[in-house]
Amino acid sequence: TKESVKGFLRRNLFVLLTIAAVALGVILGFALRPHNLTLREIKYFAFPGELLMRMLQMLVLPLIVSSLVTGISSLDSKASGKMGMRAVVYYMVTTLIAVFIGIVIVIVIKPGKGHRDSPVASSGTIEPVQAADAFLDLIRNMFPPNLVEACFKQYKTVYKKTIYTKNVTVTLNLTDSLNATEAALAANMSRVLQTIQETVVETIPVSGSSNGVNALGLVVFSMCFGLVIGSMKQQGQALRDFFDCLNEAIMRLVAIIIWYAPVGILFLIAGKILEMKNLAEVGGQLGMYTVSVIVGLLIHGLFVLPLLYFLVTRKNPYTFIAGLLQALITALGTSSSSATLPITFRCLEENNRVDKRVTRFILPVGATINMDGTALYEAVAAIFIAQVNDMELNFGQILTISITATAASIGAAGIPQAGLVTMVIVLTSVGLPTEDITLIIAVDWFLDRLRTTTNVLGDSLGAGIVEHLSRQELQSQDVEVGNSVIEE
Ligand code: ASP
Repeated sequence: TKESVKGFLRRNLFVLLTIAAVALGVILGFALRPHNLTLREIKYFAFPGELLMRMLQMLVLPLIVSSLVTGISSLDSKASGKMGMRAVVYYMVTTLIAVFIGIVIVIVIKPGKGHRDSPVASSGTIEPVQAADAFLDLIRNMFPPNLVEACFKQYKTVYKKTIYTKNVTVTLNLTDSLNATEAALAANMSRVLQTIQETVVETIPVSGSSNGVNALGLVVFSMCFGLVIGSMKQQGQALRDFFDCLNEAIMRLVAIIIWYAPVGILFLIAGKILEMKNLAEVGGQLGMYTVSVIVGLLIHGLFVLPLLYFLVTRKNPYTFIAGLLQALITALGTSSSSATLPITFRCLEENNRVDKRVTRFILPVGATINMDGTALYEAVAAIFIAQVNDMELNFGQILTISITATAASIGAAGIPQAGLVTMVIVLTSVGLPTEDITLIIAVDWFLDRLRTTTNVLGDSLGAGIVEHLSRQELQSQDVEVGNSVIEE
């Protein structure tokens, strides 16, 4: 009836608008392509999209801090400990499954077999980083010495060449056949030779930094801060109220920005389509590589994760995913899970009614470290590059790839194409040429969008699963809060 149609429209207004925006963006993009706009014109054209990115990013920092502090301080340490453990187990298990799926698919499809036929784009050089140093950077980033700096800088090892000279000791063997004069000469010479110096070049890792928010550091700090405030009882009330209020205020800003989101997404997508290089270039090996990543992401996102959700909660996973549609589309449009975070919050809390104590705790952590799509992609890309180089990988090397791909996905920031950079760790760990990353750059912008969507999906289903597993703790916490109200 008319009423129910109206009701449906009202409830799903944003989702419908967002879907319409994607469709319009695609149409507009392809319609304008024949006009061959210059890069400058495309930039101007896509400006409304850039604005959306900036607005979302603006909210991320206070959102991460306030939600984690309130989320954790509102739970007792036992409950947050249990919830945290569940989340970590979920993150590890799903990331490893994703890597496994990626490996199986790339081995079955073999997109890199045959001769190199893909165009080598040579845009910029990527500096190789040793796997061990990258791992240390990950830990370094957890403990930023300066919290203000952590809002815009991350640690990143750079390599410094040190050249120094070293004395070389030379011993001369005087043989019997030498006469006295020759012996004296040789002794003299040995003195001369002793002063010879050798030049030694040594490459050492030194602490460098790169631009971008160190979300991991802020997450670790906010979690510890929340735990401490939570344990402060009455004394901590003022801080709890402060962060709670801050969080509420940020979410209200999100509610305003969400009105603008469809416009932004339309222009983000149309702009990207205009910028896109000639599609015909992406044939052959690169085409099969793209297909491998897509198939892997689809299996993981549409079957494995929903199945896991169903097995744990016994609820329909696709109803849950329908509630996330707007976040998923925003991830597709922005290719950044951290920029999508505000929308993910809203979808989970408003549409799927996930407990705020869970979303506040789980989502910021998930958006920072849980990236199933990225892990899957890193494994596929590394093995693809091995295939292109005709390099047979043994079981040990494939295992190394699984581990480093997982680490690389944890280390990747939730920003566009971060996974392409952390790829270097995976490649160096098994001795693959890092400059071959240039082989896959041409399609990375596209795959990045798809893996970001998978990342956001994994975070969100994770929040649903952790909520279900933690319902006991949440309930007993409710009772406690109820009691204290009565006592007062
Ligand atoms: N863009 C991805 C994200 O934000 C990270 C990546 O490059 O894989 O989740």
